[in-house]
This record gives sequence, structure tokens and C-alpha cells, in this order.
Amino acid sequence: MIELRNVSKSYDGKTFVLHDISVQIQEGEFFVLVGPSGCGKSTLLRMIAGLEYITDGQLKIAGKEMNNTPPSERYISMVFQNYALYPHLTVENNIMLGLYNAELSKEEKRRRCKDVAEMLGLTDYLQKKPRHLSGGQRQRVALARAIVSQKPICLMDEPLSNLDAKLRTHMRSYVRQLQRQLGMTIIYVTHDQVEAMTMADRMMILYDGRIQQIGEPLYVYNNPNNTFVASFIGSPP
Ligand code: ATP
Ligand code: MG
Repeated sequence: MIELRNVSKSYDGKTFVLHDISVQIQEGEFFVLVGPSGCGKSTLLRMIAGLEYITDGQLKIAGKEMNNTPPSERYISMVFQNYALYPHLTVENNIMLGLYNAELSKEEKRRRCKDVAEMLGLTDYLQKKPRHLSGGQRQRVALARAIVSQKPICLMDEPLSNLDAKLRTHMRSYVRQLQRQLGMTIIYVTHDQVEAMTMADRMMILYDGRIQQIGEPLYVYNNPNNTFVASFIGSPP
């Protein structure tokens, strides 16, 4: 379980971009963080990953206080907003970066990489450079690099935002399928209501650094907490 208790964030020590965030995310849950641009989604994700300090409040993962734990010890992998692939490395070596801190033999790393590539349909591309791949294929390499580490928690920051509509729809069900297959806990960030509604076990709607509502998509749709949630989700009047 991932537990945030009264978490706040200020970058400059004066203005706060997140206020008093409290939520518990269950093991195996597909939890979606949704809200308009600038509401604090990436900041929250980066604090959970350990890439950003928590100004106030507490983060616990599996019962352990994590505020000052380095990223590599948080049981977490992450998919970044714009793939963040290394252009000079092959697909195989990009995926291998996900095992950088893993204490495994070279052969074991290769084997894991091969398995993940197979699972994601990337076997034929392992020796290519990212520039020779389509957007959807690059997206799958970014996913592969995250899941190859077999960490129980995966954080995804708008992982499908660069894809065209058709591929995005396809990848949504693909990511859900992958999550069920691997039994991961996923925190998935998007600014797309439809994506949130179709993918989430539960979703948290953020606006201006504050939680507006947390709940199952259909429940939120039918019982919006306030006018912001209603108009953002497109609830019936
Ligand atoms: P988007 O959907 O556009 O990615 P977001 O919800 O992920 O937006 P954040 O990137 O978390 O939003 O930003 C929240 C607020 O914090 C914004 O006002 C932003 O300007 C500010 N912010 C983000 N990163 C920094 C930083 N490194 N230093 C100072 N302010 C920052
Ligand atoms: Mg963001």
C-alpha cells in the first residue's frame, strides 16, 4: 500500500503547488491521477518516486516511512512523459537501463530483457536505435524499461500522450492487460478524462493542487463532489 498523509509541496518556500494531499492506494490497484495542466500531477508523482522532496507530510510504502529514502529503494519504476529514451543506445540497451541497479548477472539481465521485449512485441527491434521506431514502438520501449525491473509499483506520467487517437485507445487496454498479468500497482497520470474514466479502478481529481474527489469512475460521474468535477468529467446535470 502507498499512503500519503497531509502531503504538501512548495518549490520556492512561499507558494504551495500541492495542498494537504491524503490518499491510500491499494496493492494491485490501477489508480489514476487526473486534472488540468499545472494542477500538480507530475509533482505528486515525482515526490512518490523520490525525484522531488516532500515539503510537508508523510509518504509510506508498504508500511515504511519513505520521505528520505532514495528512489532506487522505493520498489518503484517510472515511465516518463516523453519516453526519455537515449538516442545513441539500441532498444536493447535502453531497456537494460531499467536493470541498472539490479544485482543480476549479465546473462540474467539479457534474458529478462528478451522476455519483456517478447511480451511487448519488440523482439525485432532490439538492435535498432529509437529514431528508427514509430511513436507507438518507442512508447513500448519506455514501458519495457520500466517493467523489466519487476518492481511492484509503476508510476506512469502521461505515457500515451504522444500517440494518435487510435493507437492510444489500443495502448490503454494493452497497459491494463499488462498490469493484470504482472500484478503491479500502477499510478497513472493523465489530463484526459476519457482515459481516466476507462482505465481507473479509482481516480483522484486534482485542481489547483487540491483533491476535488477520489472514487470509482462511475461513482464520481454520477455523484460529483462539486461543479468543477461535474464539468471536468462531463457529468449529466
Ligand atoms: P501538466 O499536465 O501540464 O503536465 P501537471 O499537473 O503535471 O501539469 P506540475 O508539473 O506538477 O503540473 O506543476 C504544478 C505546478 O508546479 C505548476 O504551477 C508548475 O509551474 C510548478 N512547478 C513544476 N515543477 C517546478 C519546478 N521544478 N520548479 C518550480 N515550479 C515548478
Ligand atoms: Mg505533468
